[in-house]
Amino acid sequence: MAQVRLSALVRELRARVEVLEDSDWSPAVPPSSAAGRPASVSSTAAPAAVASASTAADPGVEHRFALLRESVLACRKCPLGAQRLNPAFGVGDVHARVLFVGEGPGFEEDRRGEPFVGKAGQLLDRILAAIGLSRETVYIANVVKCHPMADPSDPSKRGNDRPPSPEETEACRGYLEEQIRLIRPRAMVALGASAAKALLRTTDGITRLRGTWREYRLPEGGESIPVMPTYHPAALLRDESLKRDAWEDMKALKKLLEAAP
Ligand code: SF4
Ligand code: URA
Repeated sequence: MAQVRLSALVRELRARVEVLEDSDWSPAVPPSSAAGRPASVSSTAAPAAVASASTAADPGVEHRFALLRESVLACRKCPLGAQRLNPAFGVGDVHARVLFVGEGPGFEEDRRGEPFVGKAGQLLDRILAAIGLSRETVYIANVVKCHPMADPSDPSKRGNDRPPSPEETEACRGYLEEQIRLIRPRAMVALGASAAKALLRTTDGITRLRGTWREYRLPEGGESIPVMPTYHPAALLRDESLKRDAWEDMKALKKLLEAAP
C-alpha cells in the first residue's frame, strides 16, 4: 500500500517537474498520434476516466450543432461579422465532458475558421495532452466567434487582436449558450479573463478567480456546471511563472472528471 502511494507520489512529482521545467509545457504526446486519442500520455493522465460520453448521445445534437454553425456563418449581429474572414465556431466532440472557452479568434483562427490554432492553441494542445485530453475529446469554443481586431482596417496585420467589447460579448452570448446547452459538459474551463468574466458575469480579475470551482447556470436554469477559471495560454507564453498555477487548475479538472460519473 505504502509502495503504491510512494510510486503515485513519484509520478506526480515527475509530472510536475516536467511541466515546470519544460518551457514548452509538457509535450506528452508524440505528434504522430495527435490526430487520435493519445496512445500514451504523461504519467498523470487517465485517458479512460476522461473518455467522451458519446454513448449516451442525443441523436439530435449533431444536427442542432450543424444548424447553429450555419447561423454563425451567416451572423452579422455585431460589427465583427463584417470584419472577419471566417468565424471560428468551435472544434471537438459535441458530446465532450469538458468545454474549454477562450476569448475570441485571433489572426490565425480568422484564417482557418477554427479556435486555438495559433501559438496559444499549440500550447493549449500540450496542456490538454498533459492531462490525457486532446482537441478531439474535448470541445473548444470562444466567447465571440469572430476576430476582434484592434485595427479593423488592416486584417492582414499580425498581433492585431483585442478582447471583445461587452456589446460584442452580449451579441454573441446566445451561440455560446446554445453550445453549452447542446454539449451539456460536466465541467468548463474559462481560459483567461474575458471568458471568466463572460461566463461568470463578474468583473473580478483572473488572478482572483482562478483555482476555485465556480458555478455556471444557463439562463433558463437547470443544473449548474462547474467552471474552472484559469490563465489564458497566451498569458502563459508571456509569463512562464503562471504555469505553476495553471497546472494546479488542470489537475483540479482532471480530478473532477475522474470523479464525475
Ligand atoms: Fe455574430 Fe458573434 Fe460574429 Fe458578432 S462575433 S457577428 S455576434 S457570430
Ligand atoms: N485566443 C483565444 O482566446 N481564442 C482563440 O481561438 C485563439 C486565441
